[in-house]
Amino acid sequence: MIKKLVAGNWKMNGGLAANEALLAALRPVSGVDVALCVPHPYLAQLQRRPPGFELGAQDVSEFAAGAYTGEVSAAMLADFGCRYVIVGHSERRALFGEDDATVARKACAALSGGLVPIVCVGETLDEREAGEALAVITRQLAAVVEVLGKEGLSRSVLAYEPVWAIGSGRSATAEQAEEVHAAIRAWLVEQGVDATGVRILYGGSVKPDNAMELFAMPNVDGGLIGGASLVAGDFMAICRAAGV
Ligand code: PEP
Repeated sequence: MIKKLVAGNWKMNGGLAANEALLAALRPVSGVDVALCVPHPYLAQLQRRPPGFELGAQDVSEFAAGAYTGEVSAAMLADFGCRYVIVGHSERRALFGEDDATVARKACAALSGGLVPIVCVGETLDEREAGEALAVITRQLAAVVEVLGKEGLSRSVLAYEPVWAIGSGRSATAEQAEEVHAAIRAWLVEQGVDATGVRILYGGSVKPDNAMELFAMPNVDGGLIGGASLVAGDFMAICRAAGV
């Protein structure tokens, strides 16, 4: 059985004092890996964090080094002890024009720099209603396999994040999530990817009251948690739901 991973995505939230208060309220949870994906400036502050919490970032440059003003490389993130980095979050795709190929290059840069990319995929509501959810998700994944290769993908974490569920308070049901997660795993196998150990996280309005049901699904290997990761009690409850 795959050990679950719960990754908090703080997005562009936080501040030195608020982070300190949040960190002080976090406690290690057994039976689950937990990561905090924080804004770049706070990676330094998170060098001191409670035991049992791994560090992650929310974006990485596709380039290794050089004249790329404003960019942050995988090596820099690794320097600060990051293990994970989110790539292809729907907010970056929608607001910052990141296309499938860019996401794939970022995932590749992350792996090359010794990080584990958390590759986000997911459909919009229009795409779901048009019956195109799986076609969209496999298109997004195919771009990543093309650049990373099968072996690279097998060393990545995937996150299914239906765009309509992110920050909306409207989570996918456990059955909807499981249907997509199972289809993703089957697709990986079809492509020749060793999918047995690939963690497929669910993200989109996960809260303490729906976490247990989602994490009970056989192909849901944890969660990517946005809003609820900023509330210590809620995040802890979600982590505990994954650890049972
Ligand atoms: C996210 O931003 O990855 C996310 C899942 O957000 P939320 O949990 O707030 O829906």
